[in-house]
Amino acid sequence: MKNTTVLISGASIAGPALAYWLERYGCTVTIVEKAPVLRPGGQAVDFKGPTHMKVLERMGILDEVRRRQTGSHDTTFIDADGRPQAVMPAEFTGGAIEIQRGDLAALLYERTAGRCEYVFGDSITSLTETASGVHATFERGAPRTFDLVVGADGIHSNVRRLAFGPEEEYVRFLGHYYALADVAAAGPAVQSVMYNEPGRMVSLWGNKASAFFVFASERLDYDRWNTDQQKRLLAQAYQGGKWKMPEIVAAASDASEFYLDSISRVEMDHYAEGRVVLLGDAAYGNTLGGFGTGLAVVGAYVLAGELAAAGGDHRVAFRRYEEEFRGYAKIARKGNAGPFLAPPTQARITMRNQMFKRRLLLKSMLWMTDKFASNIDLKDYPAPASTPHDQ
Ligand SMILES: Cc1cc2nc3c(=O)[nH]c(=O)nc-3n(C[C@H](O)[C@H](O)[C@H](O)COP(=O)(O)OP(=O)(O)OC[C@H]3O[C@@H](n4cnc5c(N)ncnc54)[C@H](O)[C@@H]3O)c2cc1C
Repeated sequence: MKNTTVLISGASIAGPALAYWLERYGCTVTIVEKAPVLRPGGQAVDFKGPTHMKVLERMGILDEVRRRQTGSHDTTFIDADGRPQAVMPAEFTGGAIEIQRGDLAALLYERTAGRCEYVFGDSITSLTETASGVHATFERGAPRTFDLVVGADGIHSNVRRLAFGPEEEYVRFLGHYYALADVAAAGPAVQSVMYNEPGRMVSLWGNKASAFFVFASERLDYDRWNTDQQKRLLAQAYQGGKWKMPEIVAAASDASEFYLDSISRVEMDHYAEGRVVLLGDAAYGNTLGGFGTGLAVVGAYVLAGELAAAGGDHRVAFRRYEEEFRGYAKIARKGNAGPFLAPPTQARITMRNQMFKRRLLLKSMLWMTDKFASNIDLKDYPAPASTPHDQ
């Protein structure tokens, strides 16, 4: 695919994973990221089942992902007096390998920086397709034309909005928000605990972040790049809480690392529009669903592989990517983590906790999760050029 130029929007997981493959297949890759630097933070993300492992292995990063993995641990559900009610085992949320999202993004960046062009602090403002390419304009940089454009810019994808239409047509709000905050002030890590009141949850010291919040809410109107405003919304949602809620929310207000977003699901029946294609959460995101990172990494492998197999013919490759991937990505069309993490009533909280006392049920749920994560026959695509990292 020499001489094929590709613009990727988004430098989190899907974007750099795709850049990794495309550059090795000979493409010239530019990645534009709205944040001024590679974004740290977010929760721990996980890989599970043979398909995820195979793709990481083929990328030559499985050992490094293992080396950087977090030590996962069980989470104890507690009541308002801090008394244990049930235990959620580590493997339920952590898969086979769990790694901080920021660490995984950094690893993918290290493997592509210097070989691909990264442009931070910019964003695409328009995309115009011509017979031979896509003309892109930017908030800051000069306009440029690329052969292909990839939207790997998450659930609120900018590329999807520009090339497919408004977010409301493709993203379903699932009635909950979550927030992550780095709250060292909450005290030293002792064990991971989760406390619920109807419709809201706070968890401390877990692998997700030092404080993790999920709350039921009507749709909130806020600026996604304004964390001060988001911290105020969190404080409002947690007013009058018991256990340590007031202290933890106060500590979150001072946190240097803070992230808030809705729990939403992307519902798209096609991922490509001409020379523009979507990858990762932009195409099949489901917040906190547990499959997003695996789907992004496997999706990057399939999309790049199909482009290589089709000799760069995007019409053939994008169609095959959709055919190959739609069934696998179905898992992201199911489920809503909100009511599981923040059940709406005390009775539902108790029921959720009781579930973790039934070992057989848990085992079969874990088995199902691995099965969904491996529900694709991975093709052996043309081997890309090897690199020093691949040795
Ligand atoms: C900081 C951060 C924290 C996260 N925390 C969680 C979490 O706690 N729980 C969870 O389930 N998922 C979280 N995610 C999402 C998780 O990373 C994905 O579900 C999964 O890994 C798939 O990744 P993705 O690359 O498709 O999308 P994402 O990881 O969402 O990455 C999208 C990237 O696109 C960038 N971007 C957005 N708009 C533009 C634009 N206009 N122009 C250029 N770039 C743009 C974003 O800054 C981001 O780097 C988080 C993502 C980020 C960026």
